[in-house]
Amino acid sequence: MVAQTIPVDDFDLVIIGGTGDLAKRKILPSLYRRVCAGQMPENARIIAAARSDFSQQDYKDFIRQALEDFVKSKKRNKKKIETFLERLTYIKLDATGIEGWKELSQSLRAGAVHAFYFSVGPSLFAPLAERLMKHKITDENTRIVVEKPFGRDLASAQSLNAVLARCFREDQIFRIDHYLGKETVQNLMALRFANALFEPLWNSQHIDHVQITVSESLGVEGRGAYYDKSGAMRDMMQNHLMQLFCLTAMEPPAVFDAASVRDEKLKVIKALDPILEGDMVRGQYRSDENGDSYQNESGNPASTTESYIALKANLSNWRWVGTPFYLRTGKKLRNRMSEIAIVFKDPPHSIFEDSQDLKGNVLTIRLQPDEGINLSMTIKEPGPGGMRLTEVPLDMSFADALGEDEADMPDAYERLIMDVIRGNQTLFMRGDEVEAAWAWVDPIIKAWEKSGAKPAQYDPGSNGPDDSLMLLHKDGRRWREIT
Ligand code: NAD
Repeated sequence: MVAQTIPVDDFDLVIIGGTGDLAKRKILPSLYRRVCAGQMPENARIIAAARSDFSQQDYKDFIRQALEDFVKSKKRNKKKIETFLERLTYIKLDATGIEGWKELSQSLRAGAVHAFYFSVGPSLFAPLAERLMKHKITDENTRIVVEKPFGRDLASAQSLNAVLARCFREDQIFRIDHYLGKETVQNLMALRFANALFEPLWNSQHIDHVQITVSESLGVEGRGAYYDKSGAMRDMMQNHLMQLFCLTAMEPPAVFDAASVRDEKLKVIKALDPILEGDMVRGQYRSDENGDSYQNESGNPASTTESYIALKANLSNWRWVGTPFYLRTGKKLRNRMSEIAIVFKDPPHSIFEDSQDLKGNVLTIRLQPDEGINLSMTIKEPGPGGMRLTEVPLDMSFADALGEDEADMPDAYERLIMDVIRGNQTLFMRGDEVEAAWAWVDPIIKAWEKSGAKPAQYDPGSNGPDDSLMLLHKDGRRWREIT
């Protein structure tokens, strides 16, 4: 199946932080792929701005290398790479000083959409917005893209929102959560709202519980010092897992537009019950055979920051009351895997003797690896000799269904950056949504900080701390394998 490419308006995209890790690993490779897909208008340009001293040629060489490193070989084409590099300009700019702003202002073309991607540390988000205003670089049509983390608690998120609101209208602010740009996540909405099959079953009458897992096999690696001030709750739960949770639990919006989808997501967060103390487990990985514990890698031998968190979330609304959502995320676990698993209730009465050990219907929306959707069904084991039952997957791997291999699947950033140019905010977070999510997690974090409790230890390569198994065992359930 050939994906349809809808051209976007002519644009100048300014990547502030254009020499950083995110720019070279994700943003520029994604833009290159959009050029290859024929979606970038011929005159569209990319202006990279950062503190470092790069000549135009140095910067092009730097990005040529980044494309070599981060674009799959099948997608690399010498001629296209050179065409792409011709679109790049580098400006040395100081986000907190005066250097570079005049040059930036002069380099923008009248008539093109101007988008500014804040790919810098969070302490620079507010100063950047203010400087764009001060130097009169913005107009009615300007967009800004703000990376994560958006605040570290409710108060800081509110104050950042307030600064941005002084400089821009809400429809100009694109708070990015790249999970929302993943093909499978959008397919979760298509599955729910473009098919009549699932929606009648999508409630506490038919769904026993939901499990959302985002597990990483790597530890904090070089990001230890940053991560130690954040932890799994702030770094993953408050944003990525909450977004997946909202899309799974929300009501069907009346129309598929930014305001309606975001209104429904907000209602989900507002319907969340406060978390009970026994409904949450914090963990931290202990040392492996190389002695690399979380505390070593974070450079803080007394750290009590969690590298793992699991919790049980309950929603007080008509659709979901009585159906818990179990959410977990952690580092240095058995595998890198992200999925949403909808576990349906057993049939009300079993007429087969051989059905006790079967897991029943589970709808799995797999984000990584091997993006796809899978529904496990119980069928009769083939052959004579009575009615023996077995489980089989009804598998819809996207690669198979769409006739594309993984290299052809668009990266989340490709989709999201093009949405910024289009001015489509459906897959971005609204200010009140982010604040509501912080308002829910803030009391939890404050309670830990007050108690001074240490996180439970777990072995690298495991499924997380033993206590997290108990979180489900006490409800008569078990986590799915991290495979
Ligand atoms: P980085 O430290 O690798 O890069 C930071 C960039 O900001 C560099 O280009 C640097 O020159 C520039 N910069 C720093 N101070 C500046 C100043 N005063 N004026 C102008 N430029 C300045 O960081 P990163 O990993 O690329 O992350 C950027 C943002 O994206 C962060 O907010 C991060 O949380 C977020 N993010 C990163 C990743 C990732 O995979 N790297 C993933 C998700 C979100």
